[in-house]
Amino acid sequence: MTISIDTAAGFCPGVRRAIKKAEDELGKSDEFFSYGSILHNDSEMHRLEDQGLSIAFKDDLEKLGGKKLLIRAHGEPPETYKHLEKIGVEVVDATCAVVRRIQQQVSRAADEMKEVNGQLLIFGRKEHPEVIGLAGNAKGMALILESKDELDVVDLSRPIRLFSQTTMDADQYLFISDTIQKGVREQQEEPDFIRYDSICRHVTDRIPSLEEFAERSEVIIFVSGKESSNGKKLFNVCKDKNPKTFFISEPDELIREWFDGVSTVGISGAASTPQWLMENVAQKIEEII
Ligand code: SF4
Repeated sequence: MTISIDTAAGFCPGVRRAIKKAEDELGKSDEFFSYGSILHNDSEMHRLEDQGLSIAFKDDLEKLGGKKLLIRAHGEPPETYKHLEKIGVEVVDATCAVVRRIQQQVSRAADEMKEVNGQLLIFGRKEHPEVIGLAGNAKGMALILESKDELDVVDLSRPIRLFSQTTMDADQYLFISDTIQKGVREQQEEPDFIRYDSICRHVTDRIPSLEEFAERSEVIIFVSGKESSNGKKLFNVCKDKNPKTFFISEPDELIREWFDGVSTVGISGAASTPQWLMENVAQKIEEII
């Protein structure tokens, strides 16, 4: 059997940088915290926890005065930074540069929309930490749309600025944008609508090569944390091209029958899937077939 690992899979630059920052801090001191999981991958988080990383949640913050806390690649709203400063927590900021840029654009767009009674829309999952961070920069102006089915809440007669969570589906975002643009043109004499190109290139650029990869093997094993938006999206890309695509988070979830009569297997993963985990999956396939 030939097993190939997708060379384009694995950490995106934002996640890689956050892990590097955590590892640098863990090398300097025995005690280091991250505000929530650094990435949606339990195996990689366990590896970091074994090095001394502790995960802190909102209720834990008050106890962390004088200690160091990593802000992960998803970023945080400005209130979090203010609060951490107030209670004396030292911030190690690993907000991804892409997310940081969008936060700044959201902040400027919010000021602009306030002046003209406009609306600031964010296409994303309400509970997703990145969306909470983006909305926090919108000074109370953000209206979050989780899908195109919620478009009826948009007032097309007012100026509009549209953003998306970096890992949302590009086609859905385009559909939402085109629908708003059409409505704005119909309802405004001088249409005032801007869509920001806020879907991350590290997600969209992977899709064509992933589609090709999915077609090259009889069976695809897609490895990702169950909570990863990016993982769910890329899994569906694979599944559309190759119906024999299976989602796993750990090597132990492999099922021997998936490989009956199969001679080529491809292994791919999300932007938060470590390379070593895909290698462990390859090894486990060798063991069980
Ligand atoms: S997917 Fe893109 S925006 Fe998100 S952390 Fe990675 S590089 Fe940054």
